[in-house]
Amino acid sequence: MLHTPIAIIGSGFAGLGAAIRLQQEGLGDYLVFERSDEVGGVWRDNSYPGCACDVESHLYSFSFALNPAWSRVYAPQGEILAYLRGCARRFGVVPRIRFGHHVRHARWDEDAERWVLDTSRGGYTADVVIAAVGGLSEPALPDLPGRATFAGPAFHTARWDHGVDLRDRRVAVIGTGASAIQVVPALQPRVAQLTLFQRTPAWVLPRQDHAIPEAERARLARSPAALWAKRAAIRARRELYVLPMLYPGLARATQRVAEAHLARSVRDPDLRARLTPDYKIGCKRILLSDDYYPALAAPNARVETAAIAEVVPDGLRTADGRHHAVDAIVYATGFHVQDYPFAAHVVGAGGRRLSDTWGRSMAAHLGTTVAGYPNLFFLQGPNTGLGHSSVLLMIESQVEHVLAALRHLRRHGHDVVEPRPEAQAAFVAEVDARMARTVWQSGCKSWYLGDDGRNSTLWPGTTMSFARRVERFRPGEYRTAARRGALARRAEAPARLAG
Ligand code: NAP
Repeated sequence: MLHTPIAIIGSGFAGLGAAIRLQQEGLGDYLVFERSDEVGGVWRDNSYPGCACDVESHLYSFSFALNPAWSRVYAPQGEILAYLRGCARRFGVVPRIRFGHHVRHARWDEDAERWVLDTSRGGYTADVVIAAVGGLSEPALPDLPGRATFAGPAFHTARWDHGVDLRDRRVAVIGTGASAIQVVPALQPRVAQLTLFQRTPAWVLPRQDHAIPEAERARLARSPAALWAKRAAIRARRELYVLPMLYPGLARATQRVAEAHLARSVRDPDLRARLTPDYKIGCKRILLSDDYYPALAAPNARVETAAIAEVVPDGLRTADGRHHAVDAIVYATGFHVQDYPFAAHVVGAGGRRLSDTWGRSMAAHLGTTVAGYPNLFFLQGPNTGLGHSSVLLMIESQVEHVLAALRHLRRHGHDVVEPRPEAQAAFVAEVDARMARTVWQSGCKSWYLGDDGRNSTLWPGTTMSFARRVERFRPGEYRTAARRGALARRAEAPARLAG
């Protein structure tokens, strides 16, 4: 079995960010295990037409790799993926990536006090594991009767089948989340008919995307200070967006902007009524689009609000008995978030499976570490998501936390670190208490909430408040220890590193 001091699982923004910062700080040899044959995480997997970021690219990029060349305010998927590939190459991470290595199981070996990883290409051991597997990486398909009987092409937005030509076909899109509102306007002009199966309408704000003029890009390339200032301004503005989410009383003005956007874009009162949400803005993710409503108002588009009862070989049947003939189905139905599939494959101290520890709701200390799971760090773990800004800010704060923990271990000659259960419980209680007043708990159903109604996904605050709480390593919140023979193993570790 090969050994690596640090194993990073995943090579999306989080995994690459961790790898780059580890390398910059010289905090240990590492390998990145990537199940695919390419870096990029969700930006590799989501290649559906229209896919782009809904956070400004000057903020949705690494702080240590600002990019003056973004072509648009909201860069398209291909450009973001190219940026990630470029970062992996430029910072020398690529030779450390083990592509095609799907980590199927991770077990804490209590005797050796290290992790044992079972990958699709053999076993590895690691002193420390950084799980950067993403919270939106496992597509969720609805459990509709007859789904497998559909005769035509049917696929999830995150598994787009580029071999299928949808031109002049009758296409059903199921879902109205962030993926659907991007794919609908991209498909509508091309297809013969687009039927959007909507269970819940979304609140949509104007996007105001535009190309960044060449002169502006040149100016940003010349002036790192200007690039920083641009990013800082976007960050500061976006921090304000969280206020109506934390204090729903402030949301009226935002909701009026969304109502006006809908009224301007959709003239037909019946369609407008169907597209008007009955919950507070911000409760589900606020979507940004200038072309979603016009696409739905087009003559070849229809918004179907009857519930889907079953899929049949040539279409879908709704609960009111109507049959909707379609040639293809696009499932824009989101991801396995609350059940966090990776947790079923992680076994910690005492042989305890993480999915059992979490039960109905995920919880972690600072969204990063879990009592009973030593030397395991989650990036984008529980309560680190955002409804208002760039998750990369959260990821970078978590990476700094991991680095601070590793420095602490090194300074004290220790090898094992895990959060004190009481520190974790206090953090989770603090998050839950702040969550209670937020708009996310105001009664709608969203992927933010588990079956028990607990919000285990979002951070109830600004990105700055997360950074302040998380970037430092507070030894009092952790238990650390030395282990037998660890120093000797560490000395020989690089020689045993694969590749
Ligand atoms: P999502 O927000 O979970 O939306 C899934 C949609 O599918 C919902 O509208 C849901 O309806 C619908 N649905 C599920 N099962 C259904 C059924 N049986 N019948 C009818 N409708 C059904 O998923 P997503 O749109 O992929 O977005 C997930 C997250 O990914 C976003 O919130 C965002 O964080 C991220 N994302 C980001 C970007 C970006 O631009 N950066 C782009 C795409 C995604 P209900 O609303 O009624 O549950």
